[in-house]
Amino acid sequence: MHKILVSRCLLGHRVRYDGGASGPFDQLDVWLAEGRVVGLCPEVAGGLPTPRPAAEIPGGQGLQVLDGKALVLTEAGEDFTEAFMRGAQLALETVRRHGIRIAVLKANSPSCGNLLTYDGTFTATKVTGEGVTAALLRREGVQVFSELQLAEAAAALQALEPAL
Ligand code: SF4
Repeated sequence: MHKILVSRCLLGHRVRYDGGASGPFDQLDVWLAEGRVVGLCPEVAGGLPTPRPAAEIPGGQGLQVLDGKALVLTEAGEDFTEAFMRGAQLALETVRRHGIRIAVLKANSPSCGNLLTYDGTFTATKVTGEGVTAALLRREGVQVFSELQLAEAAAALQALEPAL
């Protein structure tokens, strides 16, 4: 059975920067019941507390953070890059350990966003880009979806398990 990496905040765990969470999501509940879900919050796993200041990537590109060409900063200028990198690395180790090929990560997050992130101006401006963890997992070949794409994630799982 294929496991699926899921952002912990989508599982109702109050790990978001503001102490909040999301969900429930019916599809995630099904996968939880099947024992497929491996939950992870990269930012908390990387050592950050909850609540914590919001952080953004100037330019919005997690790939650039991975390559040492951009930082993850709070509005006050605190550098969270190291914790974000550590969390992404732990996510990578997790998917390798479980042979995970599919992830469902929280949309728009500077760690987890798979299509959009905030641009670093703290003006709620989104740009095309991935969070640091999402970028690293996609680079590893993991198919990364968000909670807005659960049907697509289910189709990807079906493709991996056509007999089910
Ligand atoms: S979006 Fe990712 S890093 Fe942010 S709280 Fe959710 S799991 Fe943690």
